[in-house]
Amino acid sequence: MQPSEKGLEVRNLIGGRWEERDGRDTEPVYDPATGEIVAQTPLSTRDDVDRAVKKAQEAFASWAATPVVERARVLFSFKDLLEEHFEELRDLVTLENGKDAADAAGEVRRGIEVVEFACGMPTLMMGETLRDVAKGIDNSSWRYPLGVVAAITPFNFPCMVPLWTMPVAIGAGNAYILKPSERTPLCAVRMGEILSEAGLPDGVFSIVNGAREAVDGILEHPDIKAVSFVGSQPVAEHVYTHGCAHGKRVQALAGAKNSMVVMPDAVLEKAVPNIISSAYGNAGERCLAGSVLVAVGGVADDLVARLKEAAASMKVGPGKEEGSELTPVIRDSHRDKVRSYVDLGEEEGAEVVLDGREAPLQEGFFMGPTLLDRVTAEMRVGREEIFGPVLSVVRVDTLEEAIEFTNGSPFGNACSIYTEDGAAVRHWRERVEAGMLGVNVGVAAPMASFPFNGVKNSFYGDLHATGKDGVRFFTENKVEITRWLSDPAGESKAVKRPVESGA
Ligand code: NAD
Repeated sequence: MQPSEKGLEVRNLIGGRWEERDGRDTEPVYDPATGEIVAQTPLSTRDDVDRAVKKAQEAFASWAATPVVERARVLFSFKDLLEEHFEELRDLVTLENGKDAADAAGEVRRGIEVVEFACGMPTLMMGETLRDVAKGIDNSSWRYPLGVVAAITPFNFPCMVPLWTMPVAIGAGNAYILKPSERTPLCAVRMGEILSEAGLPDGVFSIVNGAREAVDGILEHPDIKAVSFVGSQPVAEHVYTHGCAHGKRVQALAGAKNSMVVMPDAVLEKAVPNIISSAYGNAGERCLAGSVLVAVGGVADDLVARLKEAAASMKVGPGKEEGSELTPVIRDSHRDKVRSYVDLGEEEGAEVVLDGREAPLQEGFFMGPTLLDRVTAEMRVGREEIFGPVLSVVRVDTLEEAIEFTNGSPFGNACSIYTEDGAAVRHWRERVEAGMLGVNVGVAAPMASFPFNGVKNSFYGDLHATGKDGVRFFTENKVEITRWLSDPAGESKAVKRPVESGA
């Protein structure tokens, strides 16, 4: 995306054409590190969605009929171009989201890994066969794309989250419409340009920018077959219920409140930096961030002292500055919300061990690292998603109590445990209600070949994103039963019976 005299231009991509904003309302895109406006997101209407769907439907017919190996070839080119533009995409992530270069590079890399996974579509799309399911009769299944599908994505991973679904959906032969976060649309625009360069036919990938109206336009559109959503829990619930009520297949990945359980035998010198990175990396704006530390047995005093020292020494600064460890949150209004949670925690009786409410830098949307101790399950700071650089410590006596605390949460995205005790890990794994588990790993990261497996209120739907679940989500099967009447085996009574009497 080349900056013009108007700045970075965010436009809709419909039928292969980049459209002018044409007087539509807009939402400013900020650089969270400076507070400056760097672009304007057009707020698309239902009509925009409808036009995009019509163009996508036209494109779908020939794209679905394109042999899967040829579709995969476009993905191979896309992957090469993503590598070529890796640093540019990394810097766009930092510009629009605020995270540091290492985090931004990690995000782009994880996204590219899904493209690599989807390059295997000729294998992933294979159906199954079973010969002689009855005498002389064979059974097989064939996998088909759905049609026009859509994705609605959040601000916190503007490159990776669209890539969780786009390569899989497109590789499977669907036409895909992306509605990126209105707060971070720049990576999506750049990826649209790169996909065209990779040779993707016009209309197979579209971008409809915007907010609520565009989302509801997608959910209610009769010709969109499936919707993948990633974002906060209340919106996920709305997307799931509203999308399903309009006959769509929906997967909605939602918010989180992830615990990190620290056992008395944990290797603290190594666990503490890992915990710090989980809680404060990307300013705590990760759905897999460890947000509550559950200290088991006598480990709490030592652990809190170490965490305070490590957090207090973090360098707060812009993502593009080398050495910055705590980067800004996404918006001023979000910083206010995070600060108000710290106020609330104090009122609820938590001990503010480290207070980051005061803005450490004049410009941008910065907060300092905040550590709350003696948080309980009854406190809202212990239960609700804060999505900022705030870590709450809960003190318990046993692993059983730690599991009880974790399972008391309505969310079930992730949980980590720090210990060298395999039996404790097994006990925890068998009982804990979370879909992504980390053993001595503070961010149980989603990898391309596995599903992102949130449970409870962290996920609405059946088939998760990425891995084989992702392929199943964007495809459907036909199951065929076959016999050949000229085959002598097909003439026998044994053969005819199951077919003729079967329901
Ligand atoms: P959000 O819910 O505010 O926005 C997500 C998308 O929904 C955006 O595209 C936005 O335009 C749209 N949207 C927002 N409000 C809407 C409304 N009222 N009606 C219809 N559409 C609406 O989420 P966010 O703040 O961009 O992202 C942060 C949230 O996403 C956190 O809760 C985080 O935990 C969650 N998240 C979850 C995962 C996961 O895999 N489970 C991954 C990343 C982020």
